[in-house]
Order: sequence, then C-alpha cells, then structure tokens
Amino acid sequence: MKIAMIGTGYVGLVSGVCFSDFGHEVVCVDKNPAKIEMLERGEVPIFEPGLDRLMERNVAAGRLSFTVNLAEAVKGAEAVFIAVGTPTRRGDGHADLSYVFAAAEEIAGCVGDGTVIVTKSTVPVGTNRKVAEVVAKANPSLKFDVASNPEFLREGAAIDDFMRPDRVVVGVSSDRAQELMGEIYRPLFLRDFPIVYTDLESAEMIKYAANAFLATKITFINEIAALCERVGADVKSVSKGMGLDGRIGNKFLHAGPGYGGSCFPKDTSALARIGQEHAVPQQIVETVIKVNEEVKRRMLEKLRDLCGGSFNGKKITVLGVTFKPNTDDMRDAPSLTIVPALIGGGAKVAVVDPQGRREGEGMLPGVEWVEDPYEAASGADALVILTEWNEFRALDLQRIAGAMASAKMADLRNVYAAEDARAAGFEEYVAVGR
Ligand code: NAD
Repeated sequence: MKIAMIGTGYVGLVSGVCFSDFGHEVVCVDKNPAKIEMLERGEVPIFEPGLDRLMERNVAAGRLSFTVNLAEAVKGAEAVFIAVGTPTRRGDGHADLSYVFAAAEEIAGCVGDGTVIVTKSTVPVGTNRKVAEVVAKANPSLKFDVASNPEFLREGAAIDDFMRPDRVVVGVSSDRAQELMGEIYRPLFLRDFPIVYTDLESAEMIKYAANAFLATKITFINEIAALCERVGADVKSVSKGMGLDGRIGNKFLHAGPGYGGSCFPKDTSALARIGQEHAVPQQIVETVIKVNEEVKRRMLEKLRDLCGGSFNGKKITVLGVTFKPNTDDMRDAPSLTIVPALIGGGAKVAVVDPQGRREGEGMLPGVEWVEDPYEAASGADALVILTEWNEFRALDLQRIAGAMASAKMADLRNVYAAEDARAAGFEEYVAVGR
C-alpha cells in the first residue's frame, strides 16, 4: 500500500516510520525544508528513543522516503494522512485548524480518485466533515473518502505505543474507508490489538475525551497532594492505595508540578471551547484547567518558601526542563512558567536537561545551561527537580549537598525519600504532597 504522510513532527514522523515498518511504502512530506534535509541525511529532527534505527532500517529497505514536494508524494497514494499541528489559536483557546485545512486543500489538487484522506491530527468534532468540504470545493470532480484516525502515542515511548497500542480508533463514513484503514493497520489487528471502528464525530470526540480525562486524573491527584501536605498524609502512599483499585488504575496518578506538554493544555482548552460553543459547558474540564494553573503557582510558593521568602540574589539549579523525560519537547512545559518566575524574582538559574537545550535555549532566556548536575549544583542555594529524567533519579546526594552553598532541595517529582535527602546532608527537603 502506498501512503503519504503530511507533516513530519512527533506524530507524523513516528507514524510514517512505523507504517513503513509494517511493510507499506511511505512518503513523508513536510513544508519545512530544513527538517526534510535532515531526514534525507538520515538524521532525526526530534529526540525520540529508537526512532533513528527504525527509520534507517526502512529507508534502507526502500520503503520510506522524505520530500517537501506534496504533489509528488501523494501521487498514486491510496491513503494520505494529515498529521500537521493543531496548536491553540491565539485569543480564544480554540484549536487552530488552518494547517489542517491548508494541507487538505493542497492534497485535493494532487490526488487521484479513490484516495482516502485521513486526519491524524487532534481536531474538534466536525473537522473531518469540514476537511471533506474543503477538498470537494477545491476539486469538485474528485472521488474520495475521509477518515478520522486520532493518535494516542506518548512522546518518549512513541514507537512502542504505535506498535503495541491499547487500541486504534478509526472513524469513517464509508465502507471503502473502513476497508482501507483495516488494511493499513492489519499487522496490528493480526496481533490482536483492538481497532475501534466508529463514526467520524465519535472518533474525534474520543481523542479529546481521553486527553481531558487523563489531565483530570493528574489534576485530581495534584489537588489531593495539596491536601495531603496540610493533613500530614503522604500522597505517594495515597496514590498507591488508590491505584491498586482496578477501577482506578495506577497510571497518571503521580503528583507533580502540574501537567504540561504539547497536548493536554491545548486539548483541554479546545474541549472547553467546544463545550461552550455547543452550550454544554464542560465544567470539570474548565475546572481542571484552572486548578492546573494553581498547581504551578503553588509550586512557586513552595520554592519561594524554600529560598527564605525571596528569589533575589539566589543561585538556583533546575534539573529538567522538558515537559517530561525522554523527549526534547518543551511545549507548555511547567518549566516555562517556573524558570522565568525565578529569574524575574532576581535568581540566577542554572539548568541541566539531557535533551532540552536545543529547543529550550530560545524559550528560557537568561539561564545558564550546564551539562553536569554536580557542576550545576556547585555554590547553589537551592536545587529543584522539575523533570524526572533517569539521569536525576540516582544522584549522589551527598556529593550534591556538599557542593551547594546551602543544601536545600525541592523535589517536585517525588523522586527521593526525605530521610535519604536529610541523611545525605540536605538541611531542607520539600516534595509534593508529602
Ligand atoms: P509538530 O508541530 O511536531 O509537527 C507538525 C509538522 O507539520 C511540522 O513539522 C510542520 O512543518 C508540518 N506541516 C504543517 N503544515 C504542513 C503542510 N501543509 N504540509 C507539510 N507539512 C506541514 O506536531 P505534532 O506534535 O506531531 O502534532 C501533530 C498533531 O498530532 C497535533 O494535532 C497533535 O495534537 C496531535 N498529537 C500529538 C501528540 C504528541 O505527543 N505530540 C500525540 C497525539 C496526537
């Protein structure tokens, strides 16, 4: 099967590479020539574990190629996937669909009859039908189908998520589209991974509902964590005790500095807007958005207390700035709220992050980037763990404490035990919900 993938970001590139590994012939398109040049040289423009090897293997097998030329890429393709960004539109919190519709219009002029145009980007309910309208308007004689195929992969574990998904969701409005989508995902189906076929609207809704639910779960435990701090409970025990209940589950139940990333903030905000527009306000989601902002504010208060009431003149070392470990993605990371507030309060901030520097340098002006956590902690007044990279999970705490001007730690991911930190020489150790 010949497939074209429009957009080679975190989702488009992983999907394109994985489809080629299924045995399909995939051409990946991006309008950013710098990305395509890198891909043609065999370099991966993002950090995603394992992607380089899988890409190399499929390029070598002749099943995977890259181009900026959309017309050429979609020629003869039976399925064309749209995997472009849908960021928050400035001003109103809605998903910005301009990239999706621009791609649809471009595709319309270049594909042949019988093509299925599949939207993989996260898009509000009704978008797939609008994509069909855009295509029909641009090329009235074209015979085509649309399909909705939202993506659930997690950055940092994207290949495994794509190859071993909890489920694949496919929204269709024709048998032909369902058949073709079944053919594309057949290798997964054969290995018993469930495929949920549904209508276009339900598929679009599943993605937003799933993300909003996960954001709610995180925010729920973050709010419980705040209460734990007041009443003397330990949120780690609370999470464990809750999560062992099969109806609740232990995932997304770790207290921390608030959710961030390229999906939850924008998708919760878009869902809230969709609800308002249809006069069915999503009150839980609206509250989650508000509480998540409060969580970040509470983290800053915690840090200010740790620094004796003011950041002014303090040297603060921040470990981890990407929104989670194993990715270089900085979009809407909690660090983008916390670090500028530290600097704004007069602190000197040193940052260590295994992959965040390339993107983070432009987003966090005024910080000093250091490779080594021990060097970064030297002479510091406070150490903040903001992203739980493996590199920060087994630090020699004694060495760190010994190198600091005053050994104080804010462990905002609950990586360490208070007793261990104190035994290692930390005079103050604060965590979340403990
Ligand atoms: P991204 O910003 O990393 O990548 C989008 C790419 O599309 C960019 O490289 C851009 O240059 C390219 N592009 C835009 N318009 C184009 C056009 N007309 N022709 C060719 N290329 C074009 O975005 P992403 O993180 O991969 O997300 C893509 C979509 O998938 C979004 O809707 C997002 O919500 C959804 N999603 C993302 C994740 C994730 O973890 N990142 C997970 C699930 C779903």
